[in-house]
This record gives sequence, structure tokens and C-alpha cells, in this order.
Amino acid sequence: MDRNILLKAYAAIGARTPMFTDCGALCGAVCCRADEDGQGGVHLFPGESAMLRNCDWVDAVKPGSFAPIMTCIGSCEREKRPLGCRIFPLTPVRGRSGRWTVRLDARARAMCPLVGSGIGGLDPEFVRAVRDALRIIAEDPEGEAFLEKWLRLEEEYRKPLW
Ligand code: SF4
Ligand code: SF4
Repeated sequence: MDRNILLKAYAAIGARTPMFTDCGALCGAVCCRADEDGQGGVHLFPGESAMLRNCDWVDAVKPGSFAPIMTCIGSCEREKRPLGCRIFPLTPVRGRSGRWTVRLDARARAMCPLVGSGIGGLDPEFVRAVRDALRIIAEDPEGEAFLEKWLRLEEEYRKPLW
């Protein structure tokens, strides 16, 4: 995907975060830490791997089921962090009209204290900005195909275990 599309999506979110204050202070920034196996990580949108090539805070970029997965050292240059970090704890989903919108990511349930208050507990400006950013991505055919794959993966986490 063209670098300029990614930059436009980054700019749509800008410095907005899920809350007015630093939510990382609530949880010790748990979403920036590797899990117990040292795994975890963020799926990179098409074209993002190249943009992270010279970032010394990137620990590794490894192949994933549908996209490369980045792990980091637990801190980063905020203006360079990938889109998966910028949108968390939200995730893309198609609304009734078929347009892309957002909902809370099922994967956030296990770690993010903001989930308990629902999407209404997040800064509405952040929610709007993430939705706008994902719609920018969806204007690109490769970007839209990626959102579909992202959605299918997230839906796996919504399925009951038994
Ligand atoms: S887990 Fe949730 S509350 Fe904690 S830093 Fe991440 S988004 Fe913020
Ligand atoms: S790149 Fe930054 S925002 Fe993303 S997981 Fe690492 S430290 Fe957190």
C-alpha cells in the first residue's frame, strides 16, 4: 500500500489516544508488553514493514498468518508506531450499511481496563479519528482486503471456546 495512504491514516488519528489522559498509567501500558512467552506483537498493515526499517525500538518483524508481526522493546517513537498500535483497543468492522466503522477489539478483553466501560467510555474524538483512518485505508483495494483479513482474525476471538 502506498506510503502516503498510511501517512494520511496516521495523520487522521494524530496524537489522539483512547482517553484524554494517558491510559497507559492505568495498566502499566500492558498492551505494549510481550506476553509470558515473549510473543505477542502487532500485525503490520501493507507497506508498514518498510517504514519501520530503521527504527531501533523494533525488536523483530516476523511472518504472521496474514501479515508480518512486529514486536518492539516496549517503548517507541510515538509518531512512528504502526497503525495497529494507534487504533487499539478498537478494531475495524463493517457497519449495517457496509461502511467500515469500529468496535472494541475482542483481544482487548483480556488486558485493557477500558473495555469495561464500553466504546462509550473512550474519547469520542479518538473513536471518530480511528474510524476515519480506517476508511482512508479502505479506499485502497489492498488496504480494504487487509481490513477484511484483520476482521476475520478478530472474529475468531469472539467465538465461544466450547
Ligand atoms: S491496555 Fe488499554 S488502557 Fe492499557 S495502555 Fe493499552 S489501550 Fe491504554
Ligand atoms: S510500538 Fe509503541 S505503541 Fe506499539 S506496542 Fe511498541 S511501545 Fe507500544
